[in-house]
Amino acid sequence: MTSLLLMSDNTNWLRELRKNLPNISIQHYPDLTKPEEIEFALVWNPKIGVLADLPNLKVIFSIGAGVDHILKDSSIPKKIPIIRMSDPFQHKMVAEYTLLTVLYVHRNIDVILRNNINKIWTEQTAKYTPNYTVGVLGLGNIGKSISEKMHSVGFSVLGWSRSKKDLNGVETFSGSEELKNMIPRCDYLICALPLTKETKGIINQTFLRIMKKDATLINIGRGEHIQEQDLLNFIDKVPLKRVFLDVFPKEPLEKSHPFWTHPKIFVTPHMAGEILPESAVFSVKKGIEKFQTGNSLENIYDRGKGY
Ligand code: NDP
Repeated sequence: MTSLLLMSDNTNWLRELRKNLPNISIQHYPDLTKPEEIEFALVWNPKIGVLADLPNLKVIFSIGAGVDHILKDSSIPKKIPIIRMSDPFQHKMVAEYTLLTVLYVHRNIDVILRNNINKIWTEQTAKYTPNYTVGVLGLGNIGKSISEKMHSVGFSVLGWSRSKKDLNGVETFSGSEELKNMIPRCDYLICALPLTKETKGIINQTFLRIMKKDATLINIGRGEHIQEQDLLNFIDKVPLKRVFLDVFPKEPLEKSHPFWTHPKIFVTPHMAGEILPESAVFSVKKGIEKFQTGNSLENIYDRGKGY
């Protein structure tokens, strides 16, 4: 019988896999009863060497949009495809998180919170949303979902990706020259890029210097997209209005980190989008069915591109 190896402490995965993949036996690490039957692996932070030892492993599914936790095991044969998790519920969650942060600033919630403490009733001047621009860096699974959400609320939306895109309601840009034209137009800039050699440290002083005055920066990509010292140096000089950071090079963020106490920085604990087995199991199921019927797999990690 075909088996799937689950390497995750989240036992909800076990429940959902058993319920939704009745024809596949699930072996939950470390209880490998028949390693030779394992064709599929669904993993988070796999123990080094375990996957390479499975003689019939065909496909590895990542419990996460990123695959860095798998790549740190260099013993895994490169011919085995690694599938990045692409779960519509997670995409929706991330889009909702970014909408929350954008509306927090757009509807002056900072001011309202302060006024509440002091029991002050001050009418707020309404803003005409279409006159405000949201820029999205990265137009993949997550970036597309964010762009659609922002467009549906009425913002003008700009989006940047590696290859040129044609997306309803989004003015699209590609390449570094076009990025330079896009950044100064954005009132809200959201980073939804994968971490690669090209995107590491992309939000540096050159980037920050051309941001619009009073713009808001939101990073849900990876912590390493931001040059932290440049951000701290330029946050007041640019000047940025607010910065929401959900991801950090080292998580949890250390208590001594200056981001915690900077008045313009809002730290959230990598919560923008979760992978929930109740929903994500269907992406795994679809991937297995595609593989078993000889169809090409989607969301394969491309070692050349780095995402
Ligand atoms: P995808 O691989 O689906 O999309 C990546 C996008 O980035 C693509 O549009 C790609 O362009 C673009 N891109 C990549 N490299 C470049 C470059 N050098 N220049 C311009 N554009 C580039 O990724 P996802 O949408 O799944 O994930 C995006 C990020 O969100 C990841 O970092 C992921 O870890 C993070 N994430 C964070 C979560 C959280 O809770 N904070 C939750 C889920 C994801 P092209 O389309 O041309 O290939």
